[in-house]
Amino acid sequence: MAKHYHNLIGGEWLPSQSGQTFQNLNPADHNDVIGDFPASSAADVALAVAAAKKAFATWRLVPAPKRAEILYRAGQLLTERKEEFARQMTREMGKVLAETRGDVQEAIDEAYYVAGEGRRLFGQTTPSELQNKFAMSIRMPVGVCAMITPWNFPMAIPSWKLFPALVSGNTCVIKPAEDTPLSTLNLVQTLMDAGLPPGVVNIVFGYGPEAGAPLVEHPDVRAVSFTGSSAVGSIVAQRAAANFKPVSLEMGGKNAMIVMDDANLDLALDGALWGAFGTTGQRCTATSRILLHKAITAEFTERLVARVKALTVGNGLDTNIEVGPQINSQQIETSTSYCQIAQAEGAKLLTGGSRLSKGPHANGTFFAPTVFGSVTADMRIAREEVFGPVVSLIEFSTFEEAIQIANSIDYGLSTSLYTKDVNRAFTAIRDLEAGITYINAPTIGAEVHLPFGGVKQTGNGHREGNGAIDFYTTWKSVYVDYSDKLQ
Ligand code: NAD
Repeated sequence: MAKHYHNLIGGEWLPSQSGQTFQNLNPADHNDVIGDFPASSAADVALAVAAAKKAFATWRLVPAPKRAEILYRAGQLLTERKEEFARQMTREMGKVLAETRGDVQEAIDEAYYVAGEGRRLFGQTTPSELQNKFAMSIRMPVGVCAMITPWNFPMAIPSWKLFPALVSGNTCVIKPAEDTPLSTLNLVQTLMDAGLPPGVVNIVFGYGPEAGAPLVEHPDVRAVSFTGSSAVGSIVAQRAAANFKPVSLEMGGKNAMIVMDDANLDLALDGALWGAFGTTGQRCTATSRILLHKAITAEFTERLVARVKALTVGNGLDTNIEVGPQINSQQIETSTSYCQIAQAEGAKLLTGGSRLSKGPHANGTFFAPTVFGSVTADMRIAREEVFGPVVSLIEFSTFEEAIQIANSIDYGLSTSLYTKDVNRAFTAIRDLEAGITYINAPTIGAEVHLPFGGVKQTGNGHREGNGAIDFYTTWKSVYVDYSDKLQ
C-alpha cells in the first residue's frame, strides 16, 4: 500500500484541493512505490502563499539570532537523522548512499553556516553630508519567497534556499521536483521539529506547469529562487519579470576538465571518474567534457575506458554499487538520443551508449556509463547538457586552445584544470568563463560558505552560498536628523 503524503500549508498537512495525486517511484525498482503526493494547482498555491503572508507578519519580528537558533537545532536534528534520510533519498532519487549522505551533510553544513549569519546580518553606518544627521542602511526581509527546486540534490538545494531566506526573516513556499518530494518533506519536517512556527515554510507538491507556474506568478510572492534546466529557467525568469520580481536562476552546465601534459594522470583519472559518473552524471557541475593534451590523449583514454567499463551499476542502496540509476525514463531517452546524435556527428563510442535493462537492471532506469572519443568542440555532444552518465573526450594541442574550447559554449558553471604549472593554473583561474574553477580536482564539490553560481546561460549570479543573504534581503536607507531644523 502506497503511503499518502499531503501539502504543508499553514502548519497543516492538506490534500490537494482537486484531490489529484501523483506517484513517486524508486528509479532503481519501479515496483517500489515511495508514496502518493498531491498534484497541486493554483488553488493550493493560493492557500500556501496566503499562509506564508500571514506568518510573515510575526516571523519578520523574531530577532534574527532567535531565528538562527531554530536553524542550528535543525542542523542537530538532521545530523541525528542523517542515515535515515540518506537511505530514503537513495530509494527516492537513486544516487548511491555515500552521495546521499553527502547531500544531507550539505544541508547540515548550510544550517550551521546560516545559523551564524543570524548574528551577522550587518548593515552599514555612513557619514552623512549634513551636520547632526545620522545615516545608515539596514537589511530588511523581502516577504514571501518562492522556491522551485530540481531532483538531483533534493535536500541540499532546498536547504541552500530555505535557510538563508528564513534567517533573513522571510517566509517561504517551496515546490520541490516531482521526482523527489519526500526528501524535501523530510527537510521541512525537521525544521518544524526544530521549532519553526506554522506557515513560515509551506510545501506545495506537484508538476511544474500546474504548481510551479502559478507560484512564480502569484502577486504576493516577492522573490523567486529557481534551480533547474535553462529551458524552464527562461520561462520562470520571464514570468517573474512580468511582475518585477527579483529572480535567482541556477541552471545547466557543460563543465570542462582540462588535463595538461604535465598533469598527475592518476589523480586526473580519479577526478574524471568521480566528476563524470558520480550522481550518474546528473549534476549541474558534472564533468561532461574532458579536454586532453594530445601528448596524453592515448594513455588517458585507454585507462579511462578500462575504469569506466569496470564501474558497477545498480541499486544505490547496495554498497558495492558505484553508479545508480537515472532518475526517470525521460532522462534515459535524453541520454539515448544524445548518444545517437554524437555518433551521427562522427564521435567514436568507446564504451556504453545504451540503456541497461536486463537482470538486476530490468525494473529500473539504468544507463551504461558512456565515453565518447574523437569529439570536436563544435559537436552537439560537446556543447549541450546531457545530464546523464556520458562524457566526451576532446583533444587539444596548446593551453590557449584548451581555454578557448572550454569557453566556447553557452554555459559557464564549473571548470577544472589538471597541471603542475602554477603559471598556467593562475592564467586559467583568470581566463575560464565560469562561476567555479578547480585546480587539480574535478568540476564538482561546493562548500556552502563560498559563492555558488554560474555565468552565461547557467545563471544570473551567485545567489547560493555566501551570496544568498543578499538575494533574500533588501536594503532600507535610514536617516535620523537631530538638528531640529530643515537642513
Ligand atoms: P527542470 O527545469 O525540469 O525542473 C526544475 C523545477 O522546475 C522542477 O521543480 C519542475 O517541476 C519545475 N518546473 C517545470 N516547469 C515549470 C514551469 N513552467 N514553471 C515553474 N516551474 C516549473 O529541471 P530538473 O530536470 O528538475 O533538474 C535538472 C536541471 O537542473 C539540469 O539542467 C541541471 O543542470 C540543473 N541544475 C542546476 C543546478 C545549479 O545550481 N546550477 C543545480 C542542480 C541542477
